[in-house]
Amino acid sequence: MYADVKDQLAQELAQIEADGLTKTERQITTPQSAHIATTAGEALNFCANNYLGLADHPEVVGAARQALDEWGFGMASVRFICGTQTQHRDLERAIADFTGMEDSILFPSCFDANGGIFEVICGPEDAIISDQLNHASIIDGVRLSKAQRFRYANRDMEDLRTQLEAAREAGARRVLVVTDGAFSMDGYLAPLEQICDLAEEFGAMVMVDDSHATGFVGASGRGSHEACGVVDRIDIMTGTLGKALGGGSGGYVAAHTEIVELLKQRARPYLFSNAVAPSVVAGSLKALEIARDSDEPRAQLRRNAERFRSLMEEAGFELLPGEHPIVPVMFAGEDGARRASQVADAMLERGVYVIAFSYPVVPKGQARIRVQLSASHSEEDVRACVDAFVAARDEVG
Ligand SMILES: *Cc1c(COP(=O)(O)O)cnc(C)c1O
Repeated sequence: MYADVKDQLAQELAQIEADGLTKTERQITTPQSAHIATTAGEALNFCANNYLGLADHPEVVGAARQALDEWGFGMASVRFICGTQTQHRDLERAIADFTGMEDSILFPSCFDANGGIFEVICGPEDAIISDQLNHASIIDGVRLSKAQRFRYANRDMEDLRTQLEAAREAGARRVLVVTDGAFSMDGYLAPLEQICDLAEEFGAMVMVDDSHATGFVGASGRGSHEACGVVDRIDIMTGTLGKALGGGSGGYVAAHTEIVELLKQRARPYLFSNAVAPSVVAGSLKALEIARDSDEPRAQLRRNAERFRSLMEEAGFELLPGEHPIVPVMFAGEDGARRASQVADAMLERGVYVIAFSYPVVPKGQARIRVQLSASHSEEDVRACVDAFVAARDEVG
């Protein structure tokens, strides 16, 4: 039987290769950090989601190490059977307080948080209105629900109004507007104030996935809702422990009490998947404490992003505007995809690790190298990245 399937799969793989879409994985031989080594050599890393530099922070590592002794290695249980330690609840309280929500619930990942929430709170008589560029896990989670689906163009408030009207026309009982807080390919924030205004006008709820914002966006790092001045107007926040907050693993839904309680009863990835490992919980709690109590990593991250943006503009590169530590360096035109990927390769040869993205990940003609700054980068690291861009551009032409 497999002989036939084998040929079909091999053909599919060959097609991916022929389309130039094969993803290859570089193997890192060090902890995740600003300075890493791969099997191909040393590199300055500008493509991790390690925004606050906590992935190898001594206090985070120390808390996780201590937890191995104190709490053991694994839970070997889902939460509701015997997989909840006191520290799981401590972390959920801390997440709720930090994001400004009533309570929160941990999931094995944010992918699972988004995969689990929609079918619990929206049925066939309800409507979900989703930004066109929302993360894959939101798209999949919405599909798993039986709700009526509406989609609006990225950050387009006129289109959102149109979709809200359509949902009302369709007689939807509950309406939920869902958006990423920060869009990962552009670094743009969702216009949350306008979204909340529209939602209020139409009696809709608002859900924000703040995976690329929690810990570092907003004056005290609480997220995109803080940056937009709407902390008390969001109904549901989802987020990840796999990015700024230590980068270990795990995700969460932070929301009104009843939503969290219902998820504990009904969310399938919560009910049928193992509890987050004790050392990861302890490390994430420490990371969250650092994000909450210390402004310095955030300030360093902001300085790095500002410095990088201004040096790159001086050097004549075209950037998408903004303040987010995701900085897209654009390569427009017909051969943009080729140039972006050649520049990224030439930079890696100079020891600077960045990733080029082109169609279909981003629209045609908008190829880019996405640079991600971290608080763990020094001023020299940022300058070295800019120098590598200039040298690679000269080389590629
Ligand atoms: C990274 C990301 C996720 C997935 O988070 P995991 O915890 O790694 O599963 C979900 N949503 C958004 C917007 C993300 O950027």
